[in-house]
Amino acid sequence: MMKGEEITMINSLDLPSLLPEFLPFWESVGRSRLSFPRCTECGEFHWYPMVRCPHCQSSAVEWSDVEPEGELYSYTKVCHPFGDKLKEKVPYFVALVTFAGAPGIRLVTNLVEVDEDKLRIGMPVKAVFSGADGENASIAFRPLVGS
Ligand SMILES: [Zn+2]
Repeated sequence: MMKGEEITMINSLDLPSLLPEFLPFWESVGRSRLSFPRCTECGEFHWYPMVRCPHCQSSAVEWSDVEPEGELYSYTKVCHPFGDKLKEKVPYFVALVTFAGAPGIRLVTNLVEVDEDKLRIGMPVKAVFSGADGENASIAFRPLVGS
């Protein structure tokens, strides 16, 4: 089985991706970019997407591209298949990733191309994009070094 298939399948069950407020995020992913909502009034990022800035209540929120590299904030290994479609996928890794260019954001994502013994909190990770047509666009993260 190819790793790309694995990423797509896991993320295709990701319900937030179907919500309209996440569309700009997935459109960016479809262009192999990572972007988050940022308030042009106070400059703060927030996640998940909101119409108003949760820091200053301004409605001056724009999507801003950030470097698709971050740090592994936390992770877990999922061994129980939550649904039939994931039966062949377990075990897989779910992670929280933070970004130097988008302080305050912790993105829930999948971790791929992982050597479990080498996983360390704080290790650098890099986005892996697949599917450029928007509809099947997916993003996951892999360790920058060590696997
Ligand atoms: Zn603000």
